[in-house]
Amino acid sequence: MNWETVIGLETHVELATKSKIFCACTTAFGGAPNTHCCPVCTGMPGALPVLNGKVVEYAVRAALALGCTVTRYSRFDRKNYFYPDLPKAYQISQLYLPIGRDGTVEVGGRTVGIHELHMEEDAGKMVHIGGGEGRIAGATHSLVDYNRAGTPLTELVTEPDLRTPEEARLFMQKLRQIYLALGISDCSMEEGSLRCDGNVSLRRRGTTAFGTKTELKNMNSFKNLHDGLAYEICRQAEVLEEGGVIYQETCHWDPSAKRTIVMRVKETADDYRLFPEPDLAPYDLTDEFIEGVRAKLPELPDQKAARFAADFGLTSYDARHLVEHRATADFFDECMALANAEADGGKFAKPLANLIINDVAAWLNAHEGGALADTPLTAARALSLVKLLASDAISSKQAKEVFSAIMDEDADPEAIVEACGMKQVSDTGAIEAVVDEVIAANPDEVARYRDGNTKVIGFFVGQCMKAMRGQGNP
Ligand code: ADP
Ligand code: ZN
Ligand code: MG
Repeated sequence: MNWETVIGLETHVELATKSKIFCACTTAFGGAPNTHCCPVCTGMPGALPVLNGKVVEYAVRAALALGCTVTRYSRFDRKNYFYPDLPKAYQISQLYLPIGRDGTVEVGGRTVGIHELHMEEDAGKMVHIGGGEGRIAGATHSLVDYNRAGTPLTELVTEPDLRTPEEARLFMQKLRQIYLALGISDCSMEEGSLRCDGNVSLRRRGTTAFGTKTELKNMNSFKNLHDGLAYEICRQAEVLEEGGVIYQETCHWDPSAKRTIVMRVKETADDYRLFPEPDLAPYDLTDEFIEGVRAKLPELPDQKAARFAADFGLTSYDARHLVEHRATADFFDECMALANAEADGGKFAKPLANLIINDVAAWLNAHEGGALADTPLTAARALSLVKLLASDAISSKQAKEVFSAIMDEDADPEAIVEACGMKQVSDTGAIEAVVDEVIAANPDEVARYRDGNTKVIGFFVGQCMKAMRGQGNP
């Protein structure tokens, strides 16, 4: 409670261009090792890079969507270091003139600053053999696969504006939604196309100067990012409470051991002998190019959520949930287009949102990798189901059964209701007759109710439902 957490994230997103950033090799994931390479991406002497224009377009798309100022005149730089996965012994990156600067992302009511966004190339991949869990420690030998070398990346660096591990997770999820909407990356954390380093420090509450940070490298899931930061916060707080000091270190989060392991002490920019890349000419983006990219930006998740709230009267909670996935947002749009083709169709917005947020989302969760478009649920069926419920023809419990039946049997809601004899009785005359019978048949329970035991009401409702074979409107 004495300490305030300060978090800044550095994310790497692989861009889904067909070819690599400086050569024509494919960016396809996988493939037999060292088959997606050429002299350029394996650093053969004399091979020269050529910038892929699509990468610039995608990076500008990201920069604009994140509210960054696009740097028109820019170039690439060399970051020199040796590692077996980096065959040239330098990475081509943008270290002085990043393509985007000073953006913002809204996360859970907080505005997170984007310090910069730049383009760079990915390294190859090491595979360690003979040790535990494929890690380098204890391995007997290591293999290198250059298929990924030269895959285009955008690196995004936030300002230290995040305050909790939960906010860091929400930021990453938001960033993923934005990149997916932009269609510039598949953002698969499993395949490593979305990666994140978490920087974290503590400062005494009420003070403004930042404390010394540690950096958690290559968090490969939202959960690991959250848990690693949470662990590191506790570790730092313990050290500081005991009067100790935090060293600026780079760590690895071990999710099975639930602790961080120090990888190295922080290197400085000088260590990398940075200088302008001599093999690539600087570039100068025209206003036409930038405005052309801006004009083609799709509707972004925040804009979509705002539209759902304004046009369909949804709460911001419902709207935010619908836009979490492109597929559910598009499906909702499709349903509303159908609903609004009829007079007064707008009243189905809330029940349709409920159906999608609850039943559809649960179904998609349970059927991992299942695409909504491939299921038997069409917009027309969703609307029919919601109408049956709204007209009291079926109860909400029956609506859930009808939903399952649509998915399992590929049938229309009306046909399912008909086949299962599911009609709900809402005629008060019919219900009252049953109520009278149940009261007459249970004098003891009636007496208990009259004595003040109002809980017996549940018993009466149950008896009435039983008498009406579950079809009475409760
Ligand atoms: P470095 O020189 O270590 O690369 P930068 O200033 O470039 O550090 O910042 C890298 C990342 O660390 C950014 O996301 C930034 O927001 C974050 N960061 C910087 N200082 C701190 C701090 N004291 N505590 C937490 N995060 C920080
Ligand atoms: Zn190549
Ligand atoms: Mg830095």
